[in-house]
Amino acid sequence: MAPRSDGQAYAVEAVVNIDNCVSCGICVGACPTATPFRRNSAIVPGIELPDFSIADLRKRTMAATADKQGNTRILVYACEHSGAESLQGPDATVITMPCVGMLPPSFIDFALSRSYADGVMLAGCAEGDCYYRLGNEWTQQRVDGTRDPYLRRRVARERLAVSWLPGKSGRQKQVLAEFIARLRALPAPSKERRSDRA
Ligand code: SF4
Repeated sequence: MAPRSDGQAYAVEAVVNIDNCVSCGICVGACPTATPFRRNSAIVPGIELPDFSIADLRKRTMAATADKQGNTRILVYACEHSGAESLQGPDATVITMPCVGMLPPSFIDFALSRSYADGVMLAGCAEGDCYYRLGNEWTQQRVDGTRDPYLRRRVARERLAVSWLPGKSGRQKQVLAEFIARLRALPAPSKERRSDRA
């Protein structure tokens, strides 16, 4: 923490020590200003990765399932170390990031409530073997509502799947297959969508 440099409230502000930063993006996922719910204002999160902005993640979320039909359009947010790219297929579109902990939970809410997906899957490194040590654990805690920022309660948990499994084992694919079957058994979701500023 360092003395405030921008005249805003509070005496100190967080400063990134670039010699220690590993560009995991977990700080982005933890920042409550990194939300996709915008209509007219620009997205200006408190912290960003230089080569993967929250505005970019939002655009990719909005476009992810544009080529998919039916009620099993699944958006997979995945850690690029998890091997989950192989989940890409007729039902699933995969968006990778340095660590799944980079994902603000509000994106899950956004994708489902705005009908950009019928289901969201999170795929990270295997339990106890996170490339960035705590990304999978903290993401699970955000989903469970025990670590800020929380995934809102209104998000239908039956439309969310989570995998902390090794990509090479094929078990991620099994989780996806079971998720597709679960979505098929649910009542068809509303496809009504409010217009979002691109
Ligand atoms: S959370 Fe990750 S990206 Fe953010 S400052 Fe720390 S090491 Fe860097």
